[in-house]
Amino acid sequence: MKRRKFLKNSSLSTAGIFSASLLASCETDKKPQVVNKMIKPIVIATWDVLNATNKAWQVLNNAGTALDAVEQGVMIEEADINNQSVGKGGRPDRDGNVTLDACIMDKDSNCGAVLYLKNIVHPISVARKVMEETPHVMLAGKGAELFAYQKGFKKENLLTEKSKAEWLEWKKTSKYQPVINIENHDTIGMLAIDSKGDIAGACTTSGMAYKIGGRVGDSPIIGAGLFVDNEVGGATATGVGEEVVRTVGSFLIVELMRQGKTPQEACEEGVKRIISKNNEKLDFQIGFIAINKKGETGGYCIQPGFTYRVYSEQGHINKTASSYISS
Ligand code: ASP
Repeated sequence: MKRRKFLKNSSLSTAGIFSASLLASCETDKKPQVVNKMIKPIVIATWDVLNATNKAWQVLNNAGTALDAVEQGVMIEEADINNQSVGKGGRPDRDGNVTLDACIMDKDSNCGAVLYLKNIVHPISVARKVMEETPHVMLAGKGAELFAYQKGFKKENLLTEKSKAEWLEWKKTSKYQPVINIENHDTIGMLAIDSKGDIAGACTTSGMAYKIGGRVGDSPIIGAGLFVDNEVGGATATGVGEEVVRTVGSFLIVELMRQGKTPQEACEEGVKRIISKNNEKLDFQIGFIAINKKGETGGYCIQPGFTYRVYSEQGHINKTASSYISS
């Protein structure tokens, strides 16, 4: 491995010297050209999560890594009790338990995830600890919670008065059946490229509201809710996790980009794959976003209404994704 890396590096630098001298020799009568190959940092996230992308951008702007940017970015939403789909304040399962899922993936394809985690505000940071400080990729339930305490995370009640009141209200008419509510998909998936050109991603959620206790969706599943390949790009998902798992959505999108599709084309194909597996049934929401190595981005969804945030040198934009069903 080391030797291969050395050969790769040395051939790259040889190529650099070669092209620099080629430029110099071809352009003797002109001023030497400076080819600006600076990598431009960028962050992209599902939904209109201004504070989260601001935070991630701050990290990137201070020469931080993409990994730190996505972790610190999504932590903003995890701590925000007004976001009822992520972290503290998340809607509970049908028994009133808030259970969180998250995963994180770095430039070297290292990854970590926590599933069905209770009482911890920042599942993304526990996922990062799983990635960096254990030989495992996923920890679930009680094991994940105990691991978090060992690593110094504090126990906290995640069920806010607001989410509790809504759950009690839901119980009156729901007949204890989870409902797929298309308005209720605010999982945060975030992808970033840092100034070295490296990509990382994070995905965090409280999952489907009023789910059956124990249910886990796509968000902590590497390849489904999130996938990063530093040679190609990254993708992440929001929406009905079961559908994203069935098609390994984020992995599919990265592989489509590897084959030459733009992030936008790849997201569209990812959504269409899900639609075709459901015989064109369109009564649920899925949204994908993606980024490639060049910093190009894309987003696509089934139902109108999915937005995503892009923060780059060009500024901060909230984009409305185009949708399969036109608005
Ligand atoms: N994808 C998440 C899940 O299925 C939920 C969502 O995005 O609304 O758990």
